[in-house]
Amino acid sequence: MEQQVEITKTDKKLCTTCGSVVAYVGTFVEFMCPNCGSDLIRRCEKCKNFSNKYKCSKCGFEGP
Ligand SMILES: [Zn+2]
Ligand SMILES: [Zn+2]
Repeated sequence: MEQQVEITKTDKKLCTTCGSVVAYVGTFVEFMCPNCGSDLIRRCEKCKNFSNKYKCSKCGFEGP
């Protein structure tokens, strides 16, 4: 009988830009929104390299 081990991800850190779990992507950066300062922006290595835009969910600020 096969046993399936389920890994519970209690601390799912998602990239603000692409939505992938940053822990699986590599290094990532976290910073507060430079416009309103009340939302945490998280960017994975991939989005950083591609300079993908991020958007603040609080104020709608978009930045590279
Ligand atoms: Zn990303
Ligand atoms: Zn903001």
